Amino acid sequence: MLTSPPNLFVDVFVDRLLCDGCGYCVDNCTMGVFTIVNGRAEPFKSEICVACFRCHDFCPNHAITTRWIMRIA
Ligand code: SF4
Ligand code: SF4
Repeated sequence: MLTSPPNLFVDVFVDRLLCDGCGYCVDNCTMGVFTIVNGRAEPFKSEICVACFRCHDFCPNHAITTRWIMRIA
């Protein structure tokens, strides 16, 4: 796991065209970032993502992407 500077956060995105709602992300993200809404994954707690990036590997449809964002106070 990467340790990010305090003003850097990870924004988690799910491509709803690729996601089939299998729920692997709900079961395997240790932080509980994901839930299923209307048959597709929703990263409803993106702000608590710890940047382990395991979701890049466990999503069978490669529907999850992440990007670093900087918040300026
Ligand atoms: S693991 Fe991927 S395909 Fe499955 S619900 Fe999550 S985002 Fe969708
Ligand atoms: S990077 Fe890790 S903590 Fe963040 S959404 Fe993916 S699996 Fe969850």
